[in-house]
Amino acid sequence: MSEFSNYKIATLGSHSALQILKGAKDEGFSTICVAEKGRLKPYQSYKVADEFIEVDSFKDYFSIEKQIIKANAIVIPHGSFVAYLGFQNVQKVKAMYYGNKKILEWESDRTKEREWLEKAGLKLPKIYKDPKEIDRAVIVKYDGASGGKGYFIANNQAEFNDGINQYAKGRKQTTQEYIVGVPIYVHYFYSPLNKELEVMGFDVRYESNANSIGRIAARDQLTADIRTSYTVTGNIPIVVRESLLPKIFEMGESIVKVAKKLTGRELFGPFCLEGVIDPNLDFYIFEISARIVAGTNPFINGSPYTWLRYNEPMSTGRRIARDIKMAIEDDKLEKVLG
Ligand code: AMP
Ligand code: AMP
Repeated sequence: MSEFSNYKIATLGSHSALQILKGAKDEGFSTICVAEKGRLKPYQSYKVADEFIEVDSFKDYFSIEKQIIKANAIVIPHGSFVAYLGFQNVQKVKAMYYGNKKILEWESDRTKEREWLEKAGLKLPKIYKDPKEIDRAVIVKYDGASGGKGYFIANNQAEFNDGINQYAKGRKQTTQEYIVGVPIYVHYFYSPLNKELEVMGFDVRYESNANSIGRIAARDQLTADIRTSYTVTGNIPIVVRESLLPKIFEMGESIVKVAKKLTGRELFGPFCLEGVIDPNLDFYIFEISARIVAGTNPFINGSPYTWLRYNEPMSTGRRIARDIKMAIEDDKLEKVLG
């Protein structure tokens, strides 16, 4: 049995780092926060980081990677990690890295992502390749985790062109059928050690200005000429109707299996299916995040679902640290490294 205290846990100071570092400490690990200069305060104030490595920008990760390797630290990727490094650069990470790196290629490209979701048998919104074909409300989105900034709604080709000129010049976009229903994000965790899929919780994003338009009367919305945008500012926890759970487990299990067919390896650790449930209770999935999502942040002390299973505070960050700890103690660390 190897000693887990020979290892440290490191992550970039943003997104879900508070939770990741706190979870690591709760499991007994020493922690490293790679922080941008002038942005250390939260990690100091909440006492989650034992050490800091300062950088001018997260993009400089590779210039400090030697220090991470020397510290024998395992890097935990999150939304900022992938957003600032880019998925191609993540492949070049030499430090110990928690997660399936190969799957990021399938996550970052919307065509490949769709193939993955389709192969898993999930219901997806229709895609419009040619704006001439727009025959209903559509949402125009961009690649990567950009937090919904500049997405727009169009009902026909003219509105589409107008939106592209305003928001999307030169950006690679995808046009999807707009599903009228409620958005729900499912937080999963799959451990390659016990081969079990867990549903950790659910959230919905708090988006500006989408979440505030309903605060003024329709008449005022029209005169103010508002365009809907989805800039994420925070996350709100949700519990779902219990009868939806069997289907939600099935969807997650299918995603894990198909990832193995695509990359030769299961998807493991935390991941999230993002979609909308319509009034017929059909769950349309428009995106997958193959890593921890910030929507798990309301559950630093555990969610109603993790409470059912663990009877102790179990955040997704802590669940990651526990997986790593168990892997080290069983001499199976390679099972959780990408
Ligand atoms: P940041 O470090 O805040 O710039 O975020 C990095 C990436 O993660 C961006 O693409 C954000 O849109 C995304 N992100 C950050 N926080 C959240 C959140 N609370 N919910 C969803 N996505 C987020
Ligand atoms: P995303 O960045 O893909 O998570 O999308 C940002 C927001 O846009 C989501 O929280 C949803 O409210 C909304 N959204 C995205 N795609 C769709 C869709 N196909 N139908 C309805 N709403 C969507």
